[in-house]
Amino acid sequence: MAVHTVQLIGRPEPVPVGKIVCMGRNYVAHIAELNNPRPDRPMFFLKPGTALRPLEDPIVIPPYSKKARHELELAALIGKTLKDAAEDEVYPAIDGYAVSLDVTLQDVQDGVKERRHPWEIAKAFDGSCPISPFVPASQVPDPQDVMMKMLVNGERRHHDSTKLMIWKIPELIADASRYFTLEPGDIVLTGTPAGVGPLEPGDALEMEIEHVGKYTSSVAR
Ligand code: ZN
Repeated sequence: MAVHTVQLIGRPEPVPVGKIVCMGRNYVAHIAELNNPRPDRPMFFLKPGTALRPLEDPIVIPPYSKKARHELELAALIGKTLKDAAEDEVYPAIDGYAVSLDVTLQDVQDGVKERRHPWEIAKAFDGSCPISPFVPASQVPDPQDVMMKMLVNGERRHHDSTKLMIWKIPELIADASRYFTLEPGDIVLTGTPAGVGPLEPGDALEMEIEHVGKYTSSVAR
């Protein structure tokens, strides 16, 4: 069986990844821009290890979609098992943070929503989770107070602080651990701020999360 890995800066060996737990609709302004109702509880979905790609590799939009969009997200790498965790157990269980994209096939997602089908073919396809190396958690003084920025072809898209999350990192990860045992090597994507936009072949992307890193990428032609 293939093992998918990520890098944690300072750790010599790559980290084998289990599952990727993603959070939908965690920033008020983003919910408004997509005309979604505000959820009354956190909304989770999963991506498999085959979704992972190095963040700087060109993004490949699958041929069954004509409309992809970017969601810039702060990713947390779980270092200790969490099950029914209390909120104060969460930060000590996070080993690192990374810059990630939740690449979403908007046209495909609209189609499956209409048919009341699950989202996976729109959000969990191969390469749908470009991710940077993780920096050690100690390098991020307050993950709940970092700026997230993204430019596409030099034009501003995302530009918001993680302060604007509805469910803060300890709350959302504690809640996720009620449904899914979080194990070392699992990754949690914490949701996208406002500023999502289309990804077109040939686009040049610049992504930055304060204290975590600044990266460039592109969309494959
Ligand atoms: Zn997302």
